Parts: sequence; C-alpha cells; structure tokens
Amino acid sequence: MEVKIIRKVLDVNDAIAHKNRNLFKEKGIFVINVMSSPGSGKTSILEKTLSHLVPEVSCAVIVGDISTTNDADRLAKQNAPVVQINTDGFGGDCHLTAHVIESALSSFDLDKIDLLIVENVGNLVCPAEFDIGEDKRVVILSVAEGEDKPVKYPLMFRVCDAALLNKIDLLPYLDYDKNAALENISKIHPDMPVFEVSAKTQEGFSKWIEWLKECIREKKKQGK
Ligand code: MG
Ligand code: ZN
Repeated sequence: MEVKIIRKVLDVNDAIAHKNRNLFKEKGIFVINVMSSPGSGKTSILEKTLSHLVPEVSCAVIVGDISTTNDADRLAKQNAPVVQINTDGFGGDCHLTAHVIESALSSFDLDKIDLLIVENVGNLVCPAEFDIGEDKRVVILSVAEGEDKPVKYPLMFRVCDAALLNKIDLLPYLDYDKNAALENISKIHPDMPVFEVSAKTQEGFSKWIEWLKECIREKKKQGK
C-alpha cells in the first residue's frame, strides 16, 4: 500500500517535470538543479558563479529552503532575478518538486533567460528522487564533510551529471583525504566530471564556468 502511494506521488511529479522540460526546451533555457547537504557552500558557489556569468549570460535563480529568504537576499545582489521558495508552505519540507518549480516560473520573463539555476533544499537524500525538469544535476560536497559521503548517499551521486568539491582552500588545515573522496565518487559514478573549487578564493572556477557555458551553448543549438 505504502509503495503505491509513493509511486503515485512520483508519477505526478514526473508528469509536471516533463511539462517543465518541454517549456525550458521551447524557451532555450538551460536548467541546473544544484543539490548538497546543508553547509557545503551551495549559496556561496552560486554567488560566485553568477558573478562570473552576469551580464554576459542572462541568469535567473530559484532558491529552495524550508524557511527564511536569507539565501535569496544574498543571491539577489548578483543582478539576476531570484525567487525564494519556502517549502514549509508546500507541505514538503526537505526537497523541491516539479510543481513548486512550475509555480515559481511565472515570476520570470522566460524569453530573457539563458540559464536557470535551482538551489535545492540542503539534503542529500530525497532531492535526488524528484525530477524538476532540469537538464543537468549538480552535487556539491565540501572538504569539511566526510570523504565517504558519495558511498553513503549513492543515489545522489548516481543521478548527478557533475560534482563540485568545495572549500579546497581548507585542505591544508584538515585531515581530509581528497583522493579517497574522488575515488568514492568514481566508484558510484565513473567518469562524472568533478570540479575542485573554493568559493572563497575562486580557485578552480574557470573550469566549472567553462563547463556551464558549454552546456548553455549546447542547449541553444538544440533549440534551433
Ligand atoms: Mg543555501
Ligand atoms: Zn524531501
């Protein structure tokens, strides 16, 4: 019985995700779904990412949090339209659904957006199960977390298309085994690109930004 209910929820979600995806395709918008545990530096990464892309690339952001507009307030300083979703009003606290994304889209002029960034709720578990209509999924982990996160949360690393290893400026001060973390990622998802970055110093950002720009170019080509 319970299995059926869960399946139904995901079926409804997938139907709306499909609708979102068609709309993004029609408008030529490249969409990334950024996921991580709380505190890995998602918002900081996105602040710096926007500062590299705007105004050359027209960006918009949807930020999911259980409550507060703190992250949206920070991101709004980067000259891109930002919508904050507080999931406590949607009855789903710990992840974004396709329906929530759909309802946020009316806040944007979709004809003017090349890149839509979705900052999911900080959680390595259920956001991985909900398709929102995105093109690529990106997982962020930081060197302040355990090296074994990828093997503890395999679904997240399996469904993602790229990973960012953040806070590498802290490596000299930690006993973090970076190679073990990279090996754990490749155990779960061989050949997934991993960008080693620091949102603080912006080390490693050029490769990440280049990857994003290439994805945006590809999406534009497909639309034509
Ligand atoms: Mg955040
Ligand atoms: Zn959830």
